[in-house]
Amino acid sequence: TAKGDASTAHTPVMRQFHDLKAQHPDALLFFRMGDFYELFYEDAQRAAAILGIALTSRGQSAGAPVPMAGVPVHSVDNYLARLIQAGERVAIAEQVGDPGLSKGPVEREIRRVITPGTLVDASLLSADREALLLALLPEKDRWGLATLDVAGGRLGIRDVRADRLLEVLVRRPVAEILAPEGCSLPRDLPRSLPSPTFLKAERFERRQTQPILQRYFSQPGQIVDGERHPIGLQAAAVLLDYAENRLKSPLHQVRQILPENDEEELGLDGESLSALEVLGGREGGPSLYQILQHCRTAMGARLLRAQLARPLRPGPILDRRHRALAALIAQRGHLRLQEQLRHLPDAERIVTRVALGSASPRDLGQLRQFLQTLPTLQTALATALGGESELGEFPWPDLSAQCRLLEQALEEDLPATLRDGGYIRTGFNADLDHHRQLSENLQQVLVELEQSERERSGIPQLRLQYNRVQGLFIEIPRSYTGPLPADYQRRQSTRHAERFSNPRLKELETQSLAAESRAKTLERACFGDILRQLAERIGELQWLCQRVAQWDVCANLAERALALRWSAPSFCDAPVLEIDEGRHPVVEMQLGAGFVPNDLRFDDEHRLLLLTGPNMGGKSTYMRQTAIIVLLAHIGSWVPARRARLGPIDRIFTRIGASDDLAGGRSTFLVEMQETARILNLATDHSLVLLDEIGRGTSTYDGLAIAWACLESLAEKRAYTLFATHYFELTELQYPGVHNAHLTAMTRDKDIVFLHRVEPGPATQSFGIAVARLAGLPETVLENARRHLAELEDPARPSPAADANAKSQLSLFAESPHPALQRLRDLDPDALSPRAALELLYQLQALA
Ligand code: ADP
Repeated sequence: TAKGDASTAHTPVMRQFHDLKAQHPDALLFFRMGDFYELFYEDAQRAAAILGIALTSRGQSAGAPVPMAGVPVHSVDNYLARLIQAGERVAIAEQVGDPGLSKGPVEREIRRVITPGTLVDASLLSADREALLLALLPEKDRWGLATLDVAGGRLGIRDVRADRLLEVLVRRPVAEILAPEGCSLPRDLPRSLPSPTFLKAERFERRQTQPILQRYFSQPGQIVDGERHPIGLQAAAVLLDYAENRLKSPLHQVRQILPENDEEELGLDGESLSALEVLGGREGGPSLYQILQHCRTAMGARLLRAQLARPLRPGPILDRRHRALAALIAQRGHLRLQEQLRHLPDAERIVTRVALGSASPRDLGQLRQFLQTLPTLQTALATALGGESELGEFPWPDLSAQCRLLEQALEEDLPATLRDGGYIRTGFNADLDHHRQLSENLQQVLVELEQSERERSGIPQLRLQYNRVQGLFIEIPRSYTGPLPADYQRRQSTRHAERFSNPRLKELETQSLAAESRAKTLERACFGDILRQLAERIGELQWLCQRVAQWDVCANLAERALALRWSAPSFCDAPVLEIDEGRHPVVEMQLGAGFVPNDLRFDDEHRLLLLTGPNMGGKSTYMRQTAIIVLLAHIGSWVPARRARLGPIDRIFTRIGASDDLAGGRSTFLVEMQETARILNLATDHSLVLLDEIGRGTSTYDGLAIAWACLESLAEKRAYTLFATHYFELTELQYPGVHNAHLTAMTRDKDIVFLHRVEPGPATQSFGIAVARLAGLPETVLENARRHLAELEDPARPSPAADANAKSQLSLFAESPHPALQRLRDLDPDALSPRAALELLYQLQALA
């Protein structure tokens, strides 16, 4: 606009910057300037603050200084990783024009936009978890959902009921969320999820999504069961389109859409996942994942994590997992498998980079190693499976030709980038060899030339030198003052030397540079050709990576089962949940032999177990271990128990421990009630429900009343419930299917000794004061507490079971009755005239 005025117009470079920036306004623009990427204006300020690099300025543009920060190209990965970690997006603008040819600034182009959900680079990804890109699309009371693991090439879809959306979201390592503008996402999105990016709603419409799907999945079988997930498919197309736009490349690694179905999964919500410390331990303690994860490959570790967060209901998939595990354990076959798996690279992500054409020489070296190991791995697996070898899905695709290609083409030790060449073997390509020889010969020619120039000129100090600016030159020290050969042309003087050139030198220089650059070009071309040949086999490569990950997980579970003395669970159709000598794997790991195993029985007559016992007695450990055993059995693992027999279970619900949401502005009690409400609404007679100390967050009456009502509701639903409580009043209630159990403890002198054993019946003693003593409460306070306790335990105090309807009588402190009540008790209705009765009513009302 202000073009004419030199003081307010932008410089040409800055105009280019603003044009590029406008293409991706939400990303930090890395603007290539020779050996640096530079950032300007707000981008520079943001990056400088996050990275702790210097903020300077680059001259003036449009009459104002231009704030600037820069990072060197050779170490850009490290900076990118930190920016992505901080939740930033980065657009990379490269120089694409020839600096020698262009008038004005070199042409630049955005080559890629790096966002948390579209990472493919080994240096930016975390090895043990996926970074999923997720798209959401609401339709009536359902959400279409699609997840894309860009680096692994996996695209999944599903339709979920609105009330299950959160659960499905928190179980995945989501790095980026896309949603249509104007849609209303659940307000209580957990803070562990990234905040969504809203895209134009048209992009989600079938008119726009259909062509994308057609472009990707034109072959039959590429979309499995798609008609069952129509909204999910639309979301999937949006993901593909978005990721293409960031990577500036079609996603050749995505070759299938895999549907996920609710009815195949065991429900496990985010609260359970965190309360059971499945993926993350609390206060630095180990998680279940950490105890389980001894996978040998990064692919296996990621798969194990994903399976732990997504347990399956009994069915063909789970059955195959259990059969495979049993077979490996029977043959002790996992040992040989693990030996083979030990050094395998992260082939899955390399395969993606092959598909995208961005694999490095070192990537292909690792892929070569992967392919070389496959035959021995297959043999080991076939042996390991024994009679179950059908589970091995043999024969695996034969990629020996591709393996040979990599062996013949690539050097043994490979560089991390293509830049300096040197990765293609001599003998692979004749043309390349010829030009390499030429360029190497020239080195020899130069050595000889230096010698002959010294002789010709009679100057022994003469040297042939090279630098990037001047190219080849003859250097003669200033100390030499004699005559020079006539063909020497002075090019430059330095403090200590004069530099010359001559026609022979110029000719050699051109030849040498040409040969070298030709050799490099040829080498790149060979590499590109190899990539293309491999890319034709992406589907098979991905299949192989998935098998390797799957057998790595299986061998790992076999090793863990034996090392930790676990046993195979059995599944049945009867409504039971029987555990003999169950243990909590994480607590046991910490305590060793001191851990006390416990049994559990749920069946038609036993539906709700009311757990009492002292604090620290082991209630929550017992509850958690039950859920962990159920969870492990449903990912295909053995379980920490002597025996476990499990009937059909649809979901695990937990409400354990205080999960304050202070930042979200919800009090502990409110959170507790919201979570409890969800459980009461959703639990069925096939659900496993763990409730710890419901009602603790409010006054005694309220709390007891709420706990009581929840217990009634769960008993009615007949959910398998473990209900830990401090309200002894509840132990006297009698409902069908409800039983008492307690964790045993005893006092020796005044000290408490925990036995951690679960026994039938309610606790007879509360031990609170003994625990308080253990915690170091002063003796005088303890003495007073004992006295108060004696007063409170006065037998005159009514108990709730005495009359379940007389809830108003529930009282901890004996109170004198309300005056109105007293008047009512005292009067004789028969002796009242209608008039007097009316009068009395007025009086009573005045008292209330
Ligand atoms: P509660 O929920 O009753 O307060 P916890 O389940 O938190 O008690 O257990 C408290 C501690 O007792 C645990 O940290 C653990 O060290 C120990 N503990 C719990 N269960 C057992 C057990 N079965 N065997 C041995 N120690 C246990």
